[in-house]
Amino acid sequence: MLANELGRRNIRVLLIDEKASTAFNPQANATQARTMEHFRRLGFADEVRALGLPADYPTDIAYFTRYTGYELARFPLPSSGAAKSRIRSLTGSWSAAELPHRVSQKWVEKVLYKHALACHSNTLRFNHRLLSFAQQPGGVTALIEDIEHGTTFTVQADFLVGADGARSLVRQSLGFQYLGESGAVRDFMGGRMHAMYLRVPDFYSASGHAPAWMNVTFNRDRRAFMAAVDGSSEFAFHTQLRADEDETGLTDADASAMFHAAMGAPVAVEILSRGTWRAGFTLVVERMQSGRIFLGGDAAHLFTPAGGLGYNTAIEDAVNLGWKLAAVVRGGAPHSLLTTYELERRPAAVRNTNYARQFADSLGANIAPPELEDDTPAGEEARARAGDYFNEHARKEFNIPGITFGCRYDASPIILADGAPPPDRANVYIPTSCPGGRAPHLWLGEDYSLYDDFGFEWTLLRLGPRPPAVTGVKAAFAEAGLKLKVVDVKDETARDIYQTDLALIRPDQVVAFRGPEIRDPRTLAARVSGYG
Ligand SMILES: Cc1cc2nc3c(=O)[nH]c(=O)nc-3n(C[C@H](O)[C@H](O)[C@H](O)COP(=O)(O)OP(=O)(O)OC[C@H]3O[C@@H](n4cnc5c(N)ncnc54)[C@H](O)[C@@H]3O)c2cc1C
Repeated sequence: MLANELGRRNIRVLLIDEKASTAFNPQANATQARTMEHFRRLGFADEVRALGLPADYPTDIAYFTRYTGYELARFPLPSSGAAKSRIRSLTGSWSAAELPHRVSQKWVEKVLYKHALACHSNTLRFNHRLLSFAQQPGGVTALIEDIEHGTTFTVQADFLVGADGARSLVRQSLGFQYLGESGAVRDFMGGRMHAMYLRVPDFYSASGHAPAWMNVTFNRDRRAFMAAVDGSSEFAFHTQLRADEDETGLTDADASAMFHAAMGAPVAVEILSRGTWRAGFTLVVERMQSGRIFLGGDAAHLFTPAGGLGYNTAIEDAVNLGWKLAAVVRGGAPHSLLTTYELERRPAAVRNTNYARQFADSLGANIAPPELEDDTPAGEEARARAGDYFNEHARKEFNIPGITFGCRYDASPIILADGAPPPDRANVYIPTSCPGGRAPHLWLGEDYSLYDDFGFEWTLLRLGPRPPAVTGVKAAFAEAGLKLKVVDVKDETARDIYQTDLALIRPDQVVAFRGPEIRDPRTLAARVSGYG
């Protein structure tokens, strides 16, 4: 994503990954609406939305005792085919250009890779490993191994970004610690989890339930969550390991038996890959910057995947850092602009990891009663209780416009704060032009979003039928090295939503300033680009 942000701006990038290709395993399965809006900004939201489940496949979240057992609860959500028309009719918390999309990260990575590769200033190298690096006053030197050829070489760069995952060499070399909680133990989503990428051709015929994107089991011995990957036979299955289960000795037969226990039937299963990971992290690195070196993504924050926020938070890191690095590399902006990356993104990571922890707590605190699967009145009552719990839980974990749109940078020195933003709530988003948050969205036409009118860099919105003149603003921004697009939105509704005549929007679609006039364009340009 960062290579896309920088490549679009013609900044020379060398991206290396020690793997041989983009991900084989499904990994993350939820692309949040804000991430989809960023993909729309880059021009490939439709391409991503066409991937994954079939267009008519419901993206429901469903809870079962076992997949062939009782269905306890279901949160119905639209298919990807319906998402595009559905979003145009939604308002309030869901006034957005895009709905979320349920697609495995393995396919999103391919799209990101393809578009990053198309940027002429990018060089992308798989099978290349960062071995070490050193920072000098004018740049960073990196020692890189070409794994295929068994050779090493050094690279001199202006900046280094460690987006190198949970075991980040960059973070460890800088000596930065993750802070927070790492050992949460829960009945579910806390402790060791066994992940299996499975092919189960008979799943749908055997389960007897309507298809769902996310399939969760709730019972006393085999709790699991499982995302549908292709809507026909592939699944990403994750089960909580019990205290007596030792992952080191697990055979494929043991793993299949785990799946059969969750399924409640011995259906044919092919294991495409499997491995153990740990749930229960709420961790954010103490610093995200050391001079010319930055950390982003899992290298900077680790989530319990409840809520599906890890990769989405990583995407927003890249978006935030991308335009700032480009502004500095091009020479228009001071290095102090870069310090706002950590100032803005670290609190965002703390916020998001804490939301994920709340969802994991809610899942883990609910323990199946012994009678849950009994065909008795007591069993029926227990299932009804469990159903009520999960129906409520699902709406909290999977209807999260507040989390996805409501991230704010109020304390940032490049935001001209004014007014009081709405409270931060997971499930409610109140559009506001209060500087520091996402620009309010509105539709200007059939599938034509206000965001589609924004410039790729800075945008000044002149709102309503009689907006004030903005003489000299474009020139002042150009002097500061900032490209500004002035957009007139004569629509009264836009003026009503924004509650202001002028709104200055950053390249990441965050409102930097609003007001009835711009008295001193030079000071404004200097402030928002980090000159203080
Ligand atoms: C079961 C599960 C489900 C999840 N579901 C969701 C979800 O629904 N939504 C969501 O938002 N998130 C989810 N996540 C989290 C998501 O997968 C991660 O947050 C995301 O992959 C982080 O991306 P990243 O680029 O920071 O790190 P990674 O994806 O880990 O990528 C780091 C890359 O760095 C490379 N690398 C490491 N060291 C070096 C080196 N020295 N030299 C060169 N390359 C190196 C690695 O090969 C790797 O490709 C889930 C995670 C799990 C475990």
